[in-house]
Amino acid sequence: MARRCPLCRNETNWEDNPWRPFCSERCQMIDLGRWATEEYRVPLMETPEGLLADLSHELDRETSIDEQANS
Ligand SMILES: [Zn+2]
Repeated sequence: MARRCPLCRNETNWEDNPWRPFCSERCQMIDLGRWATEEYRVPLMETPEGLLADLSHELDRETSIDEQANS
């Protein structure tokens, strides 16, 4: 049964296709990479504590820069 790959829109056979719903490993990896990128853009969800600490340092620095600019 032919379906379309959600990534590249090529028709692909789902039967015996280990990469379904994608047509190939390449499309699956691109989609996984996209998910990983999305996760990094939402840092407050399931973020390792070390990364959160780095983020709060960044925020502190930005805040103090703002205060200096206002005074
Ligand atoms: Zn594809």
